[in-house]
Amino acid sequence: MSAEKLTVEKVIRALRKEYPRVNCTLHWRSSLGLLVATILAAQCTDERVNMVTKDLFRKYRKPGDYLAVSQRQLEKDIHSCGTYRMKAKAIRQSCRTIIRMYGGKVPRTMEEMLTLRGVGRKTAAIVLGTAYGIIEGIPIDTHNIRLLRRLGLTRKKEQGKIELDMMKKTPRKDWLTLSHLMVAHGRAICHARNPQCSQCVFAQSCPKSLVRKKTGR
Ligand code: SF4
Repeated sequence: MSAEKLTVEKVIRALRKEYPRVNCTLHWRSSLGLLVATILAAQCTDERVNMVTKDLFRKYRKPGDYLAVSQRQLEKDIHSCGTYRMKAKAIRQSCRTIIRMYGGKVPRTMEEMLTLRGVGRKTAAIVLGTAYGIIEGIPIDTHNIRLLRRLGLTRKKEQGKIELDMMKKTPRKDWLTLSHLMVAHGRAICHARNPQCSQCVFAQSCPKSLVRKKTGR
C-alpha cells in the first residue's frame, strides 16, 4: 500500500484480501459452548481451547450439566487451559445465572451478558456477534490493541477507550470483522516482538513500519 495515511476502511479492505476467510477461530456448537470456549481462551491459545472443548462439549451440553458435577471435576476437565480454578468458577457461576435469570439460554444483550461472571465486553461482543449475529461491541484483545495503535488507527491506550474510539470510526457491520482481522494479522505478521514488516501489506504506509524507517520514507 502507498504511504498515504491509513484509515479503518483501507485497513479492512487490504486485510480482507489477505485473510478472506477470517472468522472466530474457537470451535463451538452452541451459544453456551462459545461462551465457555471464550472464557477458557483467556491467557490460553485457541488451539489448546479447541483441543479441550472437543471432549468438554460431549460431556456438557446444557448449563445444568456444568452444575451437575463438582467444581473439582470441572477444574480437572479444563485443567490444561490454565487458571482453571478461576475459569471453572466463572463457568459454573455463569451457568447458574443463565438458569436463574435467563431461562437457561445465553442472553442476547450486552447488558445481560455483563451480569455473567467472568464475562467482560470482549467476551460478550464475541458471543453476541458470533453466535447470534448481534453486533454490540468490538472485541478488543492484545492483538487489537497492538495493531490498532501501530497502524495509527487509535491513540488511546486502554482497552475500553480503544473500543469506544474504534466504534466511532468503524461502520457497525465491520466491528467484528475488524477485530478478527487484527487477530489474524497479529498472529501471522505483526508479532508483538518481531513484526515482519518487510512481508506486511502496510510496509509502506504503517507509521511503525521498520521498512519505512530503513528507507527513511
Ligand atoms: S508494517 Fe510492521 S508494524 Fe506496521 S502493521 Fe505491518 S508488521 Fe505491524
